[in-house]
Amino acid sequence: MTQTSGTLFIVATPIGNLADITFRAIDTLKSVDLIAAEDTRHVKMLLQHYGISNKVIALHQHNEDKAALDIIEKLRSGISIALVSDAGTPLISDPGMPVVKAVHEANLTVVPITGACALIAALSVAGVAITPFTFEGFTPRTSGARQTFFKERAEIPTTWVFYESCHRILDCLQDMASVLPLERSIVIARELTKLHETIVKLPLGEMLALVERDANMRRGEFVVIVEGAEKINPADIDLTSEQLRVLTLLLTQCSLKQAVSLAVEITGAKKKLLYQKALEINGAEGE
Ligand code: SAM
Repeated sequence: MTQTSGTLFIVATPIGNLADITFRAIDTLKSVDLIAAEDTRHVKMLLQHYGISNKVIALHQHNEDKAALDIIEKLRSGISIALVSDAGTPLISDPGMPVVKAVHEANLTVVPITGACALIAALSVAGVAITPFTFEGFTPRTSGARQTFFKERAEIPTTWVFYESCHRILDCLQDMASVLPLERSIVIARELTKLHETIVKLPLGEMLALVERDANMRRGEFVVIVEGAEKINPADIDLTSEQLRVLTLLLTQCSLKQAVSLAVEITGAKKKLLYQKALEINGAEGE
């Protein structure tokens, strides 16, 4: 008789309010053979709350490749496993990627048990254009690297989202304000689903002032959403034929970012205009 392989369930857990978990997630956590958790003590609080007494093993982040092999072996032997992180949806700035990749490579079955995710909750209440958006995870830890990170995104015309910790939120906004226009619209979604949930939408300069003067705005967990750079009407993109020729030529040779920055150097035209035109040219080529 052939052995039936077990299934890997990727189970979303609450991001604060313990009631934010689905019936299906609870059923899955009860019925699997094993729960693989980022932090076993953390998940045990959740399991206790829901009267679940299933076996929990650690999915060590520093040794995820080895953990992946162990999990594949268990799945092959017919054991079903639920993977959970400390909060929200696993793999979203959380461990789990090597395991899921290995499951695909081994032709085993992986099933999402959907639920809370801080970035999606934040976007749903932000009142900004969402399609498309970019999720950046956490920003770099040092100020210099963060400023470069923001500079590289300054001209992106679509919304971008990142996670930030209470230790860095102020420094992060200061770095952002040193690079982006102070009128750029920012949303901070803080402590979502918890007692001190706060959702604020302000121009960057005012947001920085608020976070500087209000210590509560530096506590807890944060999602930061940045509205894309203002899109220039194509009719207003007034480049000379020579500037356009240089840009078009550069776009055939290098990346959009490199082409724009070289075109700024060579032609002296405004970066914003060149960037917008470059997007237009590349878009037309892709049609
Ligand atoms: N997997 C999680 C998810 O689905 O959102 C995210 C895990 S990541 C390690 C933790 C970060 O997510 C926090 O530092 C914070 O930036 C954000 N986050 C998590 N819970 C949050 C909440 N309740 N309110 C605001 N941000 C939250």
